Amino acid sequence: MSPSDSSHTVATSDGACWPAMGLGTWRYGEDAAGRATEVKAIRAALDIGYRVIDTAEMYADGGAESVAGDAIAQALTRPGSLQRSDLVVVSKVYPHHASRREMRRSCEASLSRLRLDYLDLYLLHWRGTVPLAQTIEAFEDLVARGMIKRWGVSNFDIDDMRELSALPGGAGCAANQVYFSLTQRGPEFDLLPWQRTRTMPLMAYSPLDQGALAHHPTLRRIASRHDGTPTQVALAALLAQTGVMVIPKSGNEQRLRENWGAQYIRLTPDDRAELDKAFPPPRTKHPLAML
Ligand code: NAP
Repeated sequence: MSPSDSSHTVATSDGACWPAMGLGTWRYGEDAAGRATEVKAIRAALDIGYRVIDTAEMYADGGAESVAGDAIAQALTRPGSLQRSDLVVVSKVYPHHASRREMRRSCEASLSRLRLDYLDLYLLHWRGTVPLAQTIEAFEDLVARGMIKRWGVSNFDIDDMRELSALPGGAGCAANQVYFSLTQRGPEFDLLPWQRTRTMPLMAYSPLDQGALAHHPTLRRIASRHDGTPTQVALAALLAQTGVMVIPKSGNEQRLRENWGAQYIRLTPDDRAELDKAFPPPRTKHPLAML
């Protein structure tokens, strides 16, 4: 199976086609006693069909990368199974490691924990004090060394994106990962259209509002018309938007399957109208929300 076998995909500016449904890993790796169960959950996710894995050096101080690394290594060594090229592995560098010297060290450590030779995408986790021009140079250095295929950012609002793209090499930014969910629709006003014109996927983090949307009455009502669940509707509403990826996290096989199933829900115009009433789309600029 290649990364494009998922039913929803997004295009990147360098011609790749990625599954729009991925797996988040925040909160993985925090409890040594749960490690085997977590590795099993990520293995299950890979069996279900997830191919995009989102992690960060920040999560459990590298613990999430390490859990993901074990799961990926097991999946890649099973005969006749996945190939490395089937996966889209994304990690993030701390802002205070986003200088040329520090970033290389961070990336080497992430690759070692993930047990991989390269990352498909390496993101600046959020904007810090290291000048963006220096961070771009550091990313480009890693691309040249073959340690990352491409780079991007996270938690960048439209002004940050404009500033970044005006810098030398800034147009190389491949993705922006932001808080985007039914309750946080601000990016639809300006950021998402801006990214679309550049074929730059918007990776929606916390698309379930960290689980809270599972209990929303409107979503429950719409879900019942599709034989689905509230979280599937919450994810389907984002997946229906061109250029959007979602990376819900779950450590539970049943919920991983449930979230995956969101790709098969097709919302009707009536569903959309009901969603817009409960979660009004932005009519003016809303500053980007951040967790
Ligand atoms: P989320 O994906 O919106 O929600 C995860 C929570 O929802 C977990 O507690 C999970 O519990 C629960 N959940 C998952 N599926 C469910 C379902 N079908 N029904 C009910 N509950 C469900 O929140 P998130 O983890 O904050 O965001 C997703 C990923 O985005 C993160 O893991 C991380 O990779 C990334 N992220 C990035 C940033 C950034 O600054 N770039 C910030 C936040 C998150 P169980 O595990 O028990 O199922």
